[in-house]
Parts: sequence; structure tokens; C-alpha cells
Amino acid sequence: MIGFIGIGIMGSRMSGRLLDAGHELIVYNRTQSKTAALIKKGALSADSPKDVGARANIVFTMLADPQAVDAVAYGNNGLLAGMKQGALWIDSSTISPTQSVKLANDAKHDGFRFLDAPVAGSTGPAEKGELIFFVGGESRDLEDARPLLSIMGKEIHHKGQNGAGTAMKLVNNLMLGQTVAAFSEALAFGESLGLDKADVIKSLFAGPTAAPILHFKESKLMKEDFENADFKVNSIYKDMELASEEAYKHGFALPLSNSVKAMYGLCQQQGKGDYDFATIYDFLKKK
Ligand code: NAP
Repeated sequence: MIGFIGIGIMGSRMSGRLLDAGHELIVYNRTQSKTAALIKKGALSADSPKDVGARANIVFTMLADPQAVDAVAYGNNGLLAGMKQGALWIDSSTISPTQSVKLANDAKHDGFRFLDAPVAGSTGPAEKGELIFFVGGESRDLEDARPLLSIMGKEIHHKGQNGAGTAMKLVNNLMLGQTVAAFSEALAFGESLGLDKADVIKSLFAGPTAAPILHFKESKLMKEDFENADFKVNSIYKDMELASEEAYKHGFALPLSNSVKAMYGLCQQQGKGDYDFATIYDFLKKK
């Protein structure tokens, strides 16, 4: 039995693929209503994270942030209180390497195994099973997880021991936040010079400077429809803040990233935390 905790934007799609592939699945989400579609398709419902741990041999978590992972992991009804000896917990949430190492140590102390396995790729890749997993942990645990990760992802990058997968994810998202911000600023600048928005996008995409991620954002940028999020402002701001905190611990400055991070922070402060992070275009454009 596979367990899945955190049926949000990403978790709903990832767990849906495991179910569609024929795996027995037990699911838990804090807001229970979000599990309804999976249960209709045959997933079992758990009352608590502990309940998932008690009934599954491999458990995935795909949760919003460090606080959510702690809330699910610890406490009387937490995952750690239920998990079976030798079972494997795979955390795909984007948290900090420091927290991943702590979770791994706590898991080992309690007699089970842990992989940090955050993902690159948003809703489209999650639906198509084309995510990229960045994995930290023991090779033998990864081999146990590989068949399941391969249902949800097209590439699996083993980065080293626990924490290394999460470290790579922060590196990735530091680029992601800056890339979308840089493109948004260029676009808004072009418009301020009197250029047509669609035409600026066309010319940028024809050249070498626009990253692949930007193709996924084209429609949102054209329609200026940011309310229906694939990846929230809250999430990118959290990831860049986690990168900043890790950088501080390692004596690394992150000057570009920290200034972009503050802009996502301002978007959040203006009530747009649940908007797609491409709303940074709206924040930057001349009104
Ligand atoms: P989301 O839709 O906001 O889902 C977050 C999940 O965390 C929900 O299941 C939510 O439960 C749960 N949660 C939040 N706080 C909780 C708490 N205190 N206790 C228990 N559960 C809690 O976010 P998402 O976009 O799926 O992102 C999930 C993770 O994947 C994040 O770490 C994000 O950075 C990462 N990620 C996202 C994307 C993307 O494109 N969306 C891509 C790669 C990685 P409720 O339903 O009850 O709120």
C-alpha cells in the first residue's frame, strides 16, 4: 500500500498518477474535501497522517512548506507516530536541506527510512509524469522508490545523502524565481517603450535568452490572468527565503536572488500570495 499526504496542486496530480498506474493508495489531506476525486477513483481515505503511516509501506508527502511538514510529521496523530519499522518516507515538499536532514535523522531513530525527493516541474509535467526528482538519501532506498518515482517523473537525479536533493531544489528555484522576474521586467520595459506585448514575447522566444519555463507562462502573461495558480507567490517566496537562510548559514550572499525575493514578498504583502508567481509581471509593469 502506498500512502500520500498533501493533496494540493501537485499532490493531487502526482497521487493520481500512482492510482492510475494501478497502485493501492491511501490518502490524507488536512482539508478532507480535496481527496474526494481520488477516493471516487478507488483510493482509501485516512483519518490522520498517523493512520497513513500505520497502513502504508511507502509514504509520500507533498506539503506547502516547512511548517506543514512538521505539522504532519510530529505529534500524537503525526506520521512518525504511525509508521511501520523499515517503511520508507519520501518527502517531495520543498523545504530546507537542514530540515530534510533532521527529518531523516528522526526517521532513522524511529526505525524507518527517509528520502528527500523534491521535484522540478509544475502542473503540466505532474499530470504527464514528466517531473524531475532531486533525491537525497541512501541508494538502496532510492532503488525501492524508483519504480514509483518513474510513474511521476521522467528523470531522477540522485544528488547525494539526505539534504542534497533539497539543496538542489533550492538551487533550481532560485533560478526559477529570477528567470520569471527578469522576463517580466524585460516585457514590461518593452511595453513602456511602446512595443507590442505579444510581439516582444515572440522576439524574445526566437532568441537564446528566454528559458523553457517561460513558454508555460506565456498564456498567463498575455491574458494577465494570475489568479488561477500553477505555482503560488507564497511558494516561490518561501523557496527563495529558504535559499536565503541556507546561504546565510554557508556565508554566501545571494545578492540578485534576495532582491527578487523581496519583490515576491511585496506581491504577497499586497494580498497576492495565492496568485501564480507570474503576477510579478503585474507588480513590475508601468500603470
Ligand atoms: P498547495 O496546492 O498549496 O498544497 C499544499 C498542501 O500542503 C495542501 O495539501 C495543504 O493542505 C497542505 N498543508 C499546508 N499547510 C498544512 C499544515 N499546517 N498541515 C497539514 N497540511 C498542510 O501547494 P503545491 O503547489 O501543491 O506545492 C506543494 C509543495 O510542492 C510545495 O513545497 C511547493 O513549493 C512544491 N512545488 C510546487 C510546484 C508547483 O508548480 N505548484 C512545483 C514543484 C514543487 P490544505 O489543502 O488543507 O491546505
